Amino acid sequence: MDFAYDARTNELREQLLAFMDAHVHPAEAVLAEQLADPARERWAVPAIVGDLQAEARKQGLWNLFFVDKHSIPGEHGAGLTNLQYAPLAEITGRSPQLAPSALNCAAPDTGNMELLAQFGSAEQRERWLRPLLDAEIRSAFAMTEPEVASSDATNIATRIERDGDEYVINGRKWYITGAMNPQCRILIVMGKTDPAAEPHRQQSMVLVPRDTPGVTVKRGMTVFGYDDADHGGHAEVLFEDVRVPVGNLIGEEGTGFAIAQARLGPGRIHHCMRAIGIAERALELMCRRAGERVAFGKPLAEQGVVQDWIAESRVRIEQLRLLVLKTAWLMDTVGNRGAHTEIQAIKIATPITVEWILDKAVQAHGAAGVSQDTPLAQLWAGNRTLRLADGPDEVHKRSLARRELKQYRS
Ligand SMILES: Cc1cc2nc3c(=O)[nH]c(=O)nc-3n(C[C@H](O)[C@H](O)[C@H](O)COP(=O)(O)OP(=O)(O)OC[C@H]3O[C@@H](n4cnc5c(N)ncnc54)[C@H](O)[C@@H]3O)c2cc1C
Repeated sequence: MDFAYDARTNELREQLLAFMDAHVHPAEAVLAEQLADPARERWAVPAIVGDLQAEARKQGLWNLFFVDKHSIPGEHGAGLTNLQYAPLAEITGRSPQLAPSALNCAAPDTGNMELLAQFGSAEQRERWLRPLLDAEIRSAFAMTEPEVASSDATNIATRIERDGDEYVINGRKWYITGAMNPQCRILIVMGKTDPAAEPHRQQSMVLVPRDTPGVTVKRGMTVFGYDDADHGGHAEVLFEDVRVPVGNLIGEEGTGFAIAQARLGPGRIHHCMRAIGIAERALELMCRRAGERVAFGKPLAEQGVVQDWIAESRVRIEQLRLLVLKTAWLMDTVGNRGAHTEIQAIKIATPITVEWILDKAVQAHGAAGVSQDTPLAQLWAGNRTLRLADGPDEVHKRSLARRELKQYRS
């Protein structure tokens, strides 16, 4: 067993850390300024993101997430393995509003690109995947619905009905990340093509251009009050008699559930890798603050309780990282299916642990911790949603426990 990163990973880590120091961290203040500009188009991604993308691309820090087994040969992606990408994604997590987008490695586009690469037809890939890989357009993934418990995807009620050479789509979705952004040109919509089929064969996915008649992007949903306009918000979207050609179906009718499962595996590990970067940043901020702030005659850092938070944070980060790296290694060596238990384990363990660390960092900052003057409050809000998005904790625990119990069933 070798715990060291390989030479390629180390080289890219150094390059990425230098990029973060020279470009991304200084751009955080610029992003805040651009977001606060009353003249800006509210949901358009701020210009600084495009500037960073140009620089990242020039440096070859582009589409790093696109692991080799899904690559379009000779064209795109750095050809990294999950294990090589993991420590890089972690670094981008230190500035989650900017760094993942700068490298064209941000959700939901990453999952959508992988989905198109794996399941899209040659025509769909040419039309949608290519411009996504070049960050010329953005995309969204529309599964969740306000009217049904969407953590159980068999509940999805949106109808996709065939009518001659077209599919007709009717339904309502919400929390569709990225869909407020005018640059978002394509939605991957999950709905039911055959409600009479067995529960996991009722669903299909279709590509719906955002400007198709009948698509109404109604409003941006907030996350603890944040609109997340920096990465295209989270939209409520109405589909009323929306017609698309049958060629917009992804895969075959009835495969939507299976495709959704395949899409979420890599997405979950990306979120977890970045969340570890968030935890590292929180710990750094906590240590700096505790060293500087004096209460009752001594720095906070000399209080046993604060030392306990710091030590616990370090231990928990190291535990998480090992589990995430093991999961990445399994995905590379036995595939996403073989890594199912570990993918669920990191999805359960990471957001709640990072939440704990962020909470301690907030506490150590006093009122400043909940203010707009440190990144902590927004990091906390974003991280908290990871206990819901891509499957709530309870759903992953239910499934993991059932698999565990199965071994002992006589
Ligand atoms: C910021 C953010 C971004 C998102 N982005 C997207 C996106 O881009 N596209 C998209 O389609 N969706 C997106 N979502 C939606 C997200 O995936 C759903 O919220 C999630 O799947 C849960 O579905 P639900 O909200 O309908 O909750 P419900 O299904 O109503 O579940 C509510 C709660 O019930 C409990 N529960 C459910 N099942 C069980 C069980 N078996 N045992 C015990 N308790 C249980 C859980 O605590 C769960 O949180 C996003 C959500 C957020 C907050």
